[in-house]
Amino acid sequence: MLDAQSVKKIALDCGADLVGIAPVERFAEVPGNENPTEIKPDTKSIVVMGFRILRGALQGIENGTNWGTYSGADPTGFSNYLPEVTYNVCRRLENEGFETVPLVRCSYDLRDKGVPVSPDRPAPDVIIDMEYAALAAGLGELGDGKLFLTPQFGPRQVFSAVLTDLELEPDPVFPGGLCDHCGACAEACPACALDRNNLVEAAYPAGTMKHWRLRVESCRICPTGTWPRPYSLGLEPNRTGAACGRACCRHLEGKK
Ligand code: SF4
Ligand code: SF4
Repeated sequence: MLDAQSVKKIALDCGADLVGIAPVERFAEVPGNENPTEIKPDTKSIVVMGFRILRGALQGIENGTNWGTYSGADPTGFSNYLPEVTYNVCRRLENEGFETVPLVRCSYDLRDKGVPVSPDRPAPDVIIDMEYAALAAGLGELGDGKLFLTPQFGPRQVFSAVLTDLELEPDPVFPGGLCDHCGACAEACPACALDRNNLVEAAYPAGTMKHWRLRVESCRICPTGTWPRPYSLGLEPNRTGAACGRACCRHLEGKK
């Protein structure tokens, strides 16, 4: 019988850098268009995996010449590593008799684009909030700069998730304290896109996610190293490689 320890070992052996487990109860009251149970109604656990963005890969962006090195950790990039590892974890769990659904981070503006199958169901595609899934799985916290932070890599990772009908011992929610409100992310932004006087809060079952208001329209054209989300229509790009994300990275590394 698989338990939480053995599932985590499978994920790490397959190639994930981080793994945490959230019980489905931490998604109660989450809206239907981002709720795992609308994708797989018998979901009991959400296994969330983190994949580091190579530290050296940020160098190409710092030099302003090679964005491609960064995209390697992203499903849109030249590497299929993250989807492959996620798929292989699913295969291992299904070999043991459990059902799984692999999910990668998609642009949230792709929600509600399809036609609902019935009036009581959300429109496809239902897309889970991957940052909240990582929070619910105890992997870290959302920083003021709207960058998800982990103790291991700061803002320097991407996440995938596996929905499964396997009941697993959940991880405790992360206690917080990684973001020290230093403001380095906001100060590094040439467009003043982070409004430090305006805190946006969203309450979830596993805790409140807070961040400074982000003027996304600036990020869409930011020349400092943003990267489109997978299949994005352009709402909010991946900012880890941009000046804000790199400043946070340097700040947190300096504290170690
Ligand atoms: S992506 Fe660019 S514009 Fe947006 S917060 Fe980061 S540095 Fe500023
Ligand atoms: S740079 Fe500082 S304020 Fe911004 S997210 Fe990182 S730790 Fe928080």
